Amino acid sequence: MFKLPDLPYDYNALEPYIDEATMRVHHTGHHQGYTNKLNAAIEGTCYENMSIDEILKTIHIHETAIRNNGGGYWNHNLYWQIMSPDGGGEPRGELSDAIKRDFGSIDSFKDAFKKAGLGRFGSGWAWLVSSHGKLSICTTANQDNPLMKFVDCSGKPILGMDVWEHAYYLKHQNKRGNYIDDFFRVINWDKVAELFAESK
Ligand code: MN
Repeated sequence: MFKLPDLPYDYNALEPYIDEATMRVHHTGHHQGYTNKLNAAIEGTCYENMSIDEILKTIHIHETAIRNNGGGYWNHNLYWQIMSPDGGGEPRGELSDAIKRDFGSIDSFKDAFKKAGLGRFGSGWAWLVSSHGKLSICTTANQDNPLMKFVDCSGKPILGMDVWEHAYYLKHQNKRGNYIDDFFRVINWDKVAELFAESK
């Protein structure tokens, strides 16, 4: 059985960028819902004793309940970790070097990531993925994840930005771009750097 992980900070810790009400319903409502539905969907199947990473790598395109809820479970586990009240600023060290190598500059990366998030029509995610240290940006619809083999986006996700309206609508309403600007102010670059190091 998968469990909803605790947030690594308080619900109001990302104020004023991500508001407490959004964080509370996102974690206790949405993420808990994906967790419960994932557990129900895998019960009695071959997926019951797999890790969540194994499940995402194994499932088929038409296994909709596990695809949606397994993705929702994994994606939010990452999302909480790559934000922090001490976040923001710019990446450092090897991650910074790799971003400059693959996108030209930190600002070019930020522009491209924002554009990707704005360009995802409807609900989905924008990702920074690493293929053995080579970085790229992609987006997925709904709760799809780059680990799923049928998704047109491959590599290990090291940064994931939720662009579902439930992630920002209470505070930012229809202004997804303002949410993305605020998201940049809470990115936990140390965590992203740790995931980047593991991906190489
Ligand atoms: Mn979400």
